[in-house]
Amino acid sequence: MGRSRVVVALVAAWSLALGAAGSAQAGVGLPGVVAQVPTREKVVFITIDDGWNHDPEAARILLEKRVPVTLFLLPQAISYDTGYFTRLTEEGRASVENHTVSHPDLTTLDAVGKDAEVCGAGERIEDVFGRAPKLLRPPYGAVNDEVRLAAKACGVKALVTWTHDFTTWGETPPTPRLKAGDIVLLHFTPTLAADLERALGAAKAAGLKPAALMPHLKAAGLA
Ligand SMILES: [Zn+2]
Repeated sequence: MGRSRVVVALVAAWSLALGAAGSAQAGVGLPGVVAQVPTREKVVFITIDDGWNHDPEAARILLEKRVPVTLFLLPQAISYDTGYFTRLTEEGRASVENHTVSHPDLTTLDAVGKDAEVCGAGERIEDVFGRAPKLLRPPYGAVNDEVRLAAKACGVKALVTWTHDFTTWGETPPTPRLKAGDIVLLHFTPTLAADLERALGAAKAAGLKPAALMPHLKAAGLA
């Protein structure tokens, strides 16, 4: 970590302390935390996290059906096969966003630690995909104002959690009825292809189409 990085983190912590003391409106000026996007359009948002398992079948579905999808990837999980993911961004409709370097609960870290995790991951994602991420999915959905402040200092416009987790963790979860603006969470696990088909089926059953997240966040004034 460079000296400037440390200074940024310290200044960030200092301004948060001042802000908390000086304002009754906590969180003003910080990037928002979004679990569902307010929209009148018949859309849902498919997001896929981490990146450890690189299932060709899941990639085939995403590419063939041209599914707009937001990937929150860990630099280490993609480092041994970046081609799997660059194909999804270059030939498909995937965009890659920030999920930290090592998947910690960011609320447990000090300002310097938060900065290293969020800015560090942003730089590595930009190196691989040529675009600096603007969204952060905080691991475990763990957020507080200090995490939002650290994210802001790293160029993050919104922190994105989720409405429904469709991941098969041991047992396949019951399929919820999706609503417009819902954010669906999936993971790059061996069951991704089946989980993705289940999510696409649930969207279709509700008359909703997968859409790109960033433009809708901007339209809603959330990024
Ligand atoms: Zn994760």
